[in-house]
Amino acid sequence: MPKFEYAPAPESTSVVDLETSYGLFINGEFVDGHGESFKSISPSSEEVLAEVSEATDADVDAAVKAARTAYTRVWSRMSGADRGKYLYRIARILQERAREFAVLESLDNGKPIKESRDVDIPLAAAHFFYNAGWADKLEYASLGANPRPHGVVGQVIPWNFPLLMLSWKIAPALATGNTVVLKPAETTPLTALLFAEVCQQADLPPGVVNIVTGAGATGQAIVDHPGIDKLAFTGSTGVGKMIARSIAGTRKKATLELGGKAANIVFDDAPIDQAVEGIVNGIFFNQGHVCCAGSRLLVQESVADEVTRRLKRRIGTLRVGDPLDKNTDIGAINSRAQLDRIIALTEAGESEGAERWDNGCELPSSGFWFRPTVFTGVTQTHRIAQEEIFGPVLSVLTFRTPQEAVAKANNTPYGLSAGIWTEKGSRILWMADQLKAGVVWANTFNKFDPTSPFGGYKESGYGREGGRHGLEPYVRTGA
Ligand code: NDP
Repeated sequence: MPKFEYAPAPESTSVVDLETSYGLFINGEFVDGHGESFKSISPSSEEVLAEVSEATDADVDAAVKAARTAYTRVWSRMSGADRGKYLYRIARILQERAREFAVLESLDNGKPIKESRDVDIPLAAAHFFYNAGWADKLEYASLGANPRPHGVVGQVIPWNFPLLMLSWKIAPALATGNTVVLKPAETTPLTALLFAEVCQQADLPPGVVNIVTGAGATGQAIVDHPGIDKLAFTGSTGVGKMIARSIAGTRKKATLELGGKAANIVFDDAPIDQAVEGIVNGIFFNQGHVCCAGSRLLVQESVADEVTRRLKRRIGTLRVGDPLDKNTDIGAINSRAQLDRIIALTEAGESEGAERWDNGCELPSSGFWFRPTVFTGVTQTHRIAQEEIFGPVLSVLTFRTPQEAVAKANNTPYGLSAGIWTEKGSRILWMADQLKAGVVWANTFNKFDPTSPFGGYKESGYGREGGRHGLEPYVRTGA
């Protein structure tokens, strides 16, 4: 197939005003943390972007106290309609500053600008718009009698969708009348800190949103703080289990959105070219750093060779490189640690006997990169079929009957998402009923909308985010 050469189309970084160092955002102001500062680097160049303060236990305590005061004095007393006005204001500012956020997200995270520009930032704004609309209608949202906030919410988010995960967490918490202490991931704190500026710009009352930066220990300090009423966490199943253990026996409520190992299931009657696009989007979107990624392709045996052939041809056209180039399809792996994890799991795939293929593209000389990779001949016991790789790596398995597809798809400790490709509506409904997955996409994949609930079964966690269901964990009901 002819290769098209694309001239570089770099997005300008002039729209971003990076500070050399950032403090914590507590009680409406930026303050220095008392821990050692750490560096946030660009994963595509390994260049230092900024120094960021680390929050100690005492800093987390100050943030929780500020959130408590804001909750009791201001936010819990404000009408829903007035809270909604602040959320609408934040949403509009996110839209106005969308380009700045998109460039900063791609710099700090390594994701392609076309994704941060067209997916992450618009969806983040949409979550604020959507939840703003609920703020004065909570009594009509079927949440139960007399819905009211918990108080101070602690939120810990990962590095794969930094601003978007922030919006999934903060928008419903504020709409329901809670105040927030949020920790972004150590490798991607910069858009959360820019969001803190948005809170100032929106005149949000001080203490309603507090952002504390740091690594796992700062997250643990939030989890353990006695002043936290509810926790919301997105990240690995390992850390999710630790959080569940730490809060057992306390009055803290929690929602956990953890890992996944989704099956993307292609039947022989599926429109193959569309399915191939869906498979590519399912596993290579955001470098595969997606909890609901379609990382296990289950393809019906009769079309397996054809699907794999067309899939490899399509993957051959994917462009890997500079995240700020508008033509880039796959950006940088978020960190050296994540790259090492991907390498270790793909080596295990080879040594366990699966056949490895990648698109052979050139990779930049600095930064963290991984070629889009496909493993065929994968069996259910292989680690690459069981463990979350969280990278641009697809494992291909085959099946003969719908029953076998269901059995294989459900053969995982996870249960976050699944995809079905077939022309038969009845089969879609039957499969969706059998699959133990929180989200099931039919003839599409990785579609997100703030009105739609998202969350998992089994080791993918508990609680839902998004939609009316996403408000539930943020309220108490009854007398
Ligand atoms: P983590 O679960 O460690 O990170 C998620 C968030 O939790 C980060 O903010 C992290 O801080 C914080 N954290 C870490 N330890 C603790 C703790 N003891 N108490 C409270 N908070 C804590 O994920 P990793 O970055 O280590 O990624 C490892 C694997 O997890 C990936 O390979 C992937 O398989 C999976 N993952 C799944 C995600 C999902 O969306 N389901 C998202 C991210 C990862 P910090 O990063 O600053 O250390």
